Amino acid sequence: MKIAVLPGDGIGTEIVEQAVRVLKALDLKFEMEEALVGGVAYDAHGHPLPESTLKLAKEADAVLFGAVGDWKYDKLERQFRPEQAILGLRKNLGLFANFRPAICYEQLTHASSLKPELVAGLDILIIRELTGDIYFGQPRGKRTSPDGNFPGAEEAFDTMRYTRPEIERIARVAFEAARKRSKRVTSVDKANVLETFQFWKDVVTEVHKDYPDVELDHMYVDNAAMQLVKAPKKFDVVVTGNMFGDILSDEAAMLTGSIGMLPSASLNASKQGLYEPSHGSAPDIAGKGVANPLATILSAAMMLRYSLEQEEAAQRIENAVKKVLAQGLRTPDIYSEGTTKVGTREMGDAVLKALG
Ligand code: NAD
Repeated sequence: MKIAVLPGDGIGTEIVEQAVRVLKALDLKFEMEEALVGGVAYDAHGHPLPESTLKLAKEADAVLFGAVGDWKYDKLERQFRPEQAILGLRKNLGLFANFRPAICYEQLTHASSLKPELVAGLDILIIRELTGDIYFGQPRGKRTSPDGNFPGAEEAFDTMRYTRPEIERIARVAFEAARKRSKRVTSVDKANVLETFQFWKDVVTEVHKDYPDVELDHMYVDNAAMQLVKAPKKFDVVVTGNMFGDILSDEAAMLTGSIGMLPSASLNASKQGLYEPSHGSAPDIAGKGVANPLATILSAAMMLRYSLEQEEAAQRIENAVKKVLAQGLRTPDIYSEGTTKVGTREMGDAVLKALG
């Protein structure tokens, strides 16, 4: 097994270092190779995703990614901006399934903007289709409106579309992920208004026939947005399209209240994946040794579960994280009175110790 380690910019290097220490302590057989990505890669090679980095990522079973971006690159032409590296990796590796768990750890329930009883024990997984939908559908553009409410007026338009294979593969990913959890999937659509999402609903229902052990229900996206803040614990796995998933995954993530805790994964058809924290490179705290490394450490756990088939090791990491939170250790982003404030490396040390 080979892991490409791409720390990137800002706090990326600090938090990935801790995740790598944790992975090494597991005593599993894998090779790790590091490469530059993002702004640091642009500085060194003139491109945020150099050929050598892309080659390494393609050859690896999984990519552990930190974060990219810094305000100093904001004036670069779009193709050279650090964030383009993520889009390039998604495209080149065919990463079509985005996994975003929203887990509210018992000790951090106060960090949520919802009442503690609504989020205590929350553990949901949003699976977002990442390569289709209105974000990529053609045609798109600006033109003179040929019809509609104001014929002859200037207008802009995008196209929402999904093919059967695109829906089938994301549905299978969701049902399979549900099998590793509590075997319930909610498919979110807008079948009452959109042809694309009536088709989505029909295809998900067909694919479900191959997974009789998994329960499936369907929900309109407006209701899903409401239920996520009303009774989020009634969800387990949620599967949806690119645009609805973009919005709902951020909404779900924020139920937990702490961006430094949220891992993510993007997978392709052969389960090769890119694993990264949900947050960015946090230039405001970079180099200060205060960034929370837990989202990255939990991303490494997801990597072990979904790309490297090491469920036991994944759980070891997740349990170690729960243990350090129970011990009251907190980086400043999740600190509250009565707990112990620690830095990035100390948090890494504590997780290592808690691995047992
Ligand atoms: P950000 O997520 O980097 O930071 C938002 C806020 O959260 C900041 O106050 C930051 O200090 C804090 N924060 C983030 N991660 C933290 C952690 N692990 N521990 C403690 N505090 C943490 O978002 P931003 O400030 O809007 O963006 C900064 C840069 O990151 C930009 O260049 C942006 O383009 C880039 N970005 C990259 C990614 C990615 O690499 N996937 C994602 C989002 C933003």
